[in-house]
Amino acid sequence: MKLVIPHPGHFLALKEICGEATKEAYEVYMAGTPEVLGSGRITLHAPLLDEIEQQTQYLHDKKLEMGIVMNPSCMGGQHLTSQGYNMFKWYFGKLNDMGVDSVTVAEPYLIELLAKEFPDMKVVVSTISHVDSPERARFFKELGADAITLDTNINRDFEIMEAIKDVVDCELRLLVNEACLYKCPFRYSHFNLFSHMTGVGNKPNIFSDYYYEKCMSFRVRYPELVIKSPWIRPEDLGAYEALGIDCFKMSGRANTIRWIIDVMKAYSNRSYDGNLMDLLDCPSELRDMFYIPNKELEGAIKQWMNCKKFCHKCGFCKATAERIIRVYEFKDMQRKTLPLREVQTKCAIS
Ligand SMILES: [Zn+2]
Repeated sequence: MKLVIPHPGHFLALKEICGEATKEAYEVYMAGTPEVLGSGRITLHAPLLDEIEQQTQYLHDKKLEMGIVMNPSCMGGQHLTSQGYNMFKWYFGKLNDMGVDSVTVAEPYLIELLAKEFPDMKVVVSTISHVDSPERARFFKELGADAITLDTNINRDFEIMEAIKDVVDCELRLLVNEACLYKCPFRYSHFNLFSHMTGVGNKPNIFSDYYYEKCMSFRVRYPELVIKSPWIRPEDLGAYEALGIDCFKMSGRANTIRWIIDVMKAYSNRSYDGNLMDLLDCPSELRDMFYIPNKELEGAIKQWMNCKKFCHKCGFCKATAERIIRVYEFKDMQRKTLPLREVQTKCAIS
């Protein structure tokens, strides 16, 4: 198993993460310099070039690899202007000179640019490129990808993953703990919003993060959506290794260092006895609301491996949610949990 670990970006955080790195840790990744290119997610610390160099050296001393993630889903066409092209090429050249091991991008043009100009750096296709079929995987391989992070929507679709494995020989990565909705209708729009908020140029002065709020309210209203989200439990990694996929990427570079370390340990141990929500990269409001005993999800993978994903006919995730999800409640200065069904009845009455 190879684990790819998120890093918020400042050197102190990196030292702490490396101090407790497990033997499964393989690559540490962080966002690149936003003056050059934004990213698909909120970035806490914007590392400058000297910081990247210093941290790459530090990781290499620890026998770990450095990955830089520059995966906006929209660049507003900048990369196809000569000014933009020159800037990207200059920046990637700097990363290459510093010994950065991999660069993760979502934009096909940049994949080709990296593969042609900087063959020493590994080109990783971002999950934001939505590789969800053998055909799409082949296109990206053709552009020069050395590794592909699969679309999380197929994390529980073993037939498709196997077919992708059959047609491309590059490394496949799975994002294990991202808690986005399965077939999320907001995913493209939300990534585009982040791209413009973290990138160069005029940042939109938004009055609300509509997608975030909608996503939250959907899950509060229909808690089975939390079960349907295509996360992978630490206990189930073996099912993916049996397919020949052994590189697992953790999401969560905007979380605390302690959280990152704890999640790294849970996946390295292939076991977590506690609230599944603790492992998921999701809004803390949800983590404070639901208690999902991870151990009670034992065996669910067998259903998902063969599931046709016609939820209206299947109902497994909904039944599982009703059976195991508990909701936190504060009463008499104590934090308790109530079964989901009890809370739903209560809400229906009041
Ligand atoms: Zn755009």
